[in-house]
This record gives sequence, structure tokens and C-alpha cells, in this order.
Amino acid sequence: MKYNGYAYIHTIGCQMNIYDSEKLVSILSSYGFKKTDDMNKADIVVCNTCSIRHKAEEKAFSFLGRFAKIKKKKPHLIIVMAGCVAQQEGKKAFKRIPHLDIVLGTQAFSRFGQHIDAIKSGKQKVVDTKDCLMIYEAMPDASCFNENKMSRFVTIMQGCDNFCTYCVVPYVRGRERSRKPESIVEEITLLAGSGVKEVTLLGQNVNSYGKKESQISFPELLIKINEINGIQRIRFATSHPKDLSINLIYAIRDLDKVCNHLHLPVQSGSNKILKKMNRGYTREKYIDKIFALKKECPDIALSTDIIVGFPSETDKDFNDTMNLLREIEFDSIFAFAYSDRSSAPAARFSDQIDEKEKRERLNNLLQLQEHYTQKKNKELIGETLEVLVEGKSIKRRDGFVKTRKNMEQMTGRSESNKIVHFPYEHVNIRDIIKIRIENAYPHSLWGHPVGA
Ligand code: SF4
Repeated sequence: MKYNGYAYIHTIGCQMNIYDSEKLVSILSSYGFKKTDDMNKADIVVCNTCSIRHKAEEKAFSFLGRFAKIKKKKPHLIIVMAGCVAQQEGKKAFKRIPHLDIVLGTQAFSRFGQHIDAIKSGKQKVVDTKDCLMIYEAMPDASCFNENKMSRFVTIMQGCDNFCTYCVVPYVRGRERSRKPESIVEEITLLAGSGVKEVTLLGQNVNSYGKKESQISFPELLIKINEINGIQRIRFATSHPKDLSINLIYAIRDLDKVCNHLHLPVQSGSNKILKKMNRGYTREKYIDKIFALKKECPDIALSTDIIVGFPSETDKDFNDTMNLLREIEFDSIFAFAYSDRSSAPAARFSDQIDEKEKRERLNNLLQLQEHYTQKKNKELIGETLEVLVEGKSIKRRDGFVKTRKNMEQMTGRSESNKIVHFPYEHVNIRDIIKIRIENAYPHSLWGHPVGA
């Protein structure tokens, strides 16, 4: 059926959810809905949810809770909970949000339209959390190509088979499945045609792309994307250390558009904790892979994820993580204090760590990393970096902009994913220009365009 009306999408969570929301826009548009940024104008409201942390889950319930009164005044308004919390909660979501119309799990997007039809023809509630072995292949809606963006996310695979004991992904996103390479290449070619310069390939474990389907491997996919005219930079996230192959290292080294930055989540530096997390590698294997990578790509920027305070983590285990940071010297880290997710096995582990202890460990870890982030940034002073221009600088908390508040500044990102500010120049957004780095700050770099 075709409807006339407006759709408002609220996205919580990771890059993958942002991408999924674009797919939801595309489905809604094929049913006649126009996307709106004005919630009050909406005839359908979709909250695309995230369940990776308790806080994100609560945000979803709180957002949807607000519509109780609005729905009374506007009974035709369709309210939808989509994504990971929907998948996890199923019909239990109606208990907390009785005015909800549709609970749309992560693998039910292809059936979204028929559920809207059902509600429009009088059905009271719909829950769809069925598993799906196929990946949803629809192209983004034309409206997504008109947003004048230089950078886009493209999901290449979904789900995960790794079952790390702290993670809900295999339960809420299902088993691992990869998109067809030709569909990915078609999507990126369309994006390049609309002016997109940089794509970030997304998946829970991108470097095992294609394995289950016995189709081309992730490095082979990178070769195909590297050939697409107009695309100038290729990034990807997230990679699993156990699947970092030598061919992927060669692809990072040899393919000119693949950025010299790798995000490789280690999670802990302790072998005991890595085993309890079911990560499938040891500290030594992780370090070996990093050294193999640095041998081929000596300038590569590295980032990682770390969980502190995992059940049974002792001071010694935590020190192993601190020492790993010292040994590898990451450019940046994303660190979190462990928190239970009820559907993940680690929630039932004994020896939970005291919250105060977790916070202390997290602070110590972040302080140590601050030192390495600054060190890595300072090493770039005097270097010339290629920067993709993003626009005018925005004020940052590190005070960087304050010292030059009267000067118009621009900002962009280096291949190694560093934020680079430079004085206003007659350059276009989406240009790639050379900047000579003159100063380094905790979270950014400052320089002048070369030859300007
Ligand atoms: S590999 Fe990543 S997505 Fe998969 S279970 Fe482990 S943490 Fe979760």
C-alpha cells in the first residue's frame, strides 16, 4: 500500500544502526512516507535501538515513553521500536510501552511494510523477532544520496558467530551472514556517483566477510572497492584479531585507497580474562599480529577497545592490560567499565568487580592512554598529512579553538583518522589537501596547507 505522511526516525547506538536507519527510511519512502526532522509532524515514529549497554536501552524506553500523551491526541500515529532492544525484548516491550504498535527485530526489516499495512488495517500490535538467514540487500533510498555527504557507512555483513561471553550481538543480531559482493559494489558505485569520497565498511567482524558463504574474501572485496572511481578512502570496522590475515595486511599496505588505520579490539591484556571472554586469541598472538602489521605498514595508526573490571579481573590481570598499552602504544582507545547484559553469559559469572574498583581502573587506564595519544600526536609535528576537508572547525573541550577564537578555521581528517584543524583557506569541502602539522593537542592536530 502507499500512504501519505511523514516518518521520524530516532537512532541510538553504533554506526551500524545509523546505516540500518537509512534502510528504514528507504522502506518507508517506498510506502509513500517522507522523512521529517520534525517529530510533531510525524505519522510514524521509529526508534532504532541499541542494547549493547544498559544506558542505551534505557534511552530507547525513555524516548518511546514520551509518546503516550501524543498518541492519545493523535491515535493514527504509528509507533515502532526497531533494532536490538526490539529483538531482545519482543512482546515484553509492550509492558513498558503500551502505546507501541510495532516491535521490529533486527532481522525483520524486509517485512516492515507488511506490518505497517497490518496496523493501518486495524491490527492492534505486531511483534516480529523472527530469525532470517538472508541479509537485507535493499539499496539506500534516493533521499540518502541527496544529503551532500562526503562520507558514508556501508554494511557488508551482519551478525556474529563468535559468542564473546560479555556480548549480546549473536543473540540480537543473529548468526554471521555476508552481503553479496556485487550488491556492495553497486551500492558504493551509486554513493560515489552522488559525491561520496569515503566509505566505512561495517560489520561485527568484517575480516571474516564471505567465509561462510564461500564467496570472495574481505581482502578481495577491498580490491574491488578500491577500483571504484570517485571513492578516495576506504575504512572498515570492526575487525576481530583472530581473523586478521596476512592477505588483509597486504591489502592495507598495497591498496592506495585503504586508510592506514586499523581498529583492532583487544579487550584485555590478560590471557586468563581473554579466555573467560571467549575471544579466541592470547595476548601473545595479538601482539604477534600487531608486529606483523607494523612490519608491512610501519606508519599505521592503531586503535582498540578495552573492557576493564570483567568478572574475576585481579590487579595482576589489570596490570597486564596496562602493560599491553605500554607495549603497543595505541593511537587511541575506547575503554569501558564492564557492565552486565542480562542475555550474555558473563552476567552469570561469579567474582563480579566492585563498581568503585572498576571506575578507578578505568581512570588509570585512560590516564595512561592520554600519554600515548599525545605522544603519537606529537610525533606528527613536522609531517605532511593528506586531509579530507570536512568543513569549519567546531569548538572542542580541549580549549584548542579558544586560543584562536577570532580566526576562522577549517577541519578535516587524516588517513590515520586524526582530526586536523587549519586556517580558513579557499578549499572545498570534500577536497583532499596536504597539511603540514605544526602543533599537537590531546585530541587534534593543527597545521597549515602546504603551498598555500
Ligand atoms: S566478536 Fe564482537 S560482535 Fe561478535 S560476539 Fe565478540 S564482541 Fe560481540
